[in-house]
Amino acid sequence: MNASQNDAVPMRFGEGKISGYLAAFLGMMGLGGVLCFHFPWLLTTPELTSRLSVETLRRLLLAVLVFAFVLGLTNFLIGRHRALGYAGMLAATAAVLLGGATVQPSGATAISVAPLGLDSLLLGLLFNALLFVPLERIFPLRREQLVLRAEWTTDLAYFALANLLVSVLLTITTATGPLVFGWAVSPVVQGWVRSQPMPVQFLEMLVVADLAQYALHRRLHEHPLLWRIHAVHHSAVTMDWLAGSRLHLLEVMLTRTTVFVPLYLLGFSREVLYTYIGFVSLHAVLIHANLGVSFGPLRYLVATPLYHHWHHSADPAVVNRNYAVHLPVIDYLFGTYHQPARFPDSYGLVGETVPPGLWAQHLYPLSGRRAPTAPDHVATDTPARRAGIDEGRRR
Ligand SMILES: [Zn+2]
Ligand SMILES: [Zn+2]
Repeated sequence: MNASQNDAVPMRFGEGKISGYLAAFLGMMGLGGVLCFHFPWLLTTPELTSRLSVETLRRLLLAVLVFAFVLGLTNFLIGRHRALGYAGMLAATAAVLLGGATVQPSGATAISVAPLGLDSLLLGLLFNALLFVPLERIFPLRREQLVLRAEWTTDLAYFALANLLVSVLLTITTATGPLVFGWAVSPVVQGWVRSQPMPVQFLEMLVVADLAQYALHRRLHEHPLLWRIHAVHHSAVTMDWLAGSRLHLLEVMLTRTTVFVPLYLLGFSREVLYTYIGFVSLHAVLIHANLGVSFGPLRYLVATPLYHHWHHSADPAVVNRNYAVHLPVIDYLFGTYHQPARFPDSYGLVGETVPPGLWAQHLYPLSGRRAPTAPDHVATDTPARRAGIDEGRRR
C-alpha cells in the first residue's frame, strides 16, 4: 500500500464526519474513564493513578463528556454520517448513567500488577491526539496526508495493546535487572550517581539509555531473526504521531529491558527515571510525527522528525542509518549518521513485505519465510552515495 492510497478522501467541515468521529472518540473515552473509576483493580495502573488526583480526573471526564454531547448534537444537526454521532452520544449517555463526572471511586484498590491499563490508554490517547493532531495540521510535512490515513486502525491497535499491557510490561522490564544483574550492583557507584544534581543525572541517563538503544537497535537491523521482529516497525509507509506505536511486543520488551538494566545498575534516582519515562513517551511520538518543522540547530543535538524519518526511508541507498533514538551524536561517532536538510520521499521496507494487521504482524517473525533483505539490508556507505543523497532537493 502506498502513501497516495491513504489520502483519497479528505474530511471537510460541514459534512458531519469530523464531528461524528470526534463525538464517537470522546464518548468512548468518557465511558472508558467511568469504567476505570468502577473497576480500578482491573483497569487502572498503580504507577499512574497514584500520581493523579481524583478531582483532576473528574474534571477531565466532565470536559470529555460535555464535548462528546456537543459534537454529537452538531453531527445530528448536520444530518450526515449520523451513525458516528449516535455512537458517541450513546457511549456518553452510558457514561453519565454510570455516574458521569460525579462517579465515586470504587473502594477496591489496584493490585500491584494491573491486568489492563485502560487509564494509561485513555490518558495517553487523549493527550497525544490533543497535542499532535492540531500540530500536524498547523505545521504539516505532508499537507495532503489524512489524520485517518491507511492502516491507522492497525497503529491504533498497537497503541492500545502497549498501553493496556503497560503494567505487565513494566513488571517484566524492571524484574530482569535485579533478578539477573543483582550481583553487579555497587552501593558506592549508585550513591555517587544519586548524589548528583537532577539535571546532570537526566543528561547522563539520556546518554546511557541511548547508547544501550543504539546497540540493540543496530543488532535488530543486522541479525536476520531480530530483523524480522523489527521489520514490523519499518513496515509503516506513513509517518505520523501514531506510526511509532507499531512495535512488536517482543521488541518492546527487549528494548525496555536493555535500557532499564544499565539505568538500574547505575542507580539513578526515581524522580529522574520518571522524568525520563515522560520524556521518552513524548519524544517517541514526536520523531515519527508528520511535522515539517526543521528545529534549527537543535536537530543536531536531539533527534527530531527529520532525523528519525530518515531511519524509516524506503530509499535502498539510505537504509541502516540513524539508530540513535535521542542523540544524533551517537550515530555520528559510530559512522551511521545521516541528516540532510530535506525529508525522505517515501517510507517502508526495501524488498520485503510484512502482512497487514497487528496479529499477522506479530506472527510474522515465526512465519518461516526468509527475510530477503535481512543480510543485504546493510547499505554500503560510499561517499558518492552520501553526496547523491545529500544533494537532493529541499522539500
Ligand atoms: Zn530500525
Ligand atoms: Zn521509528
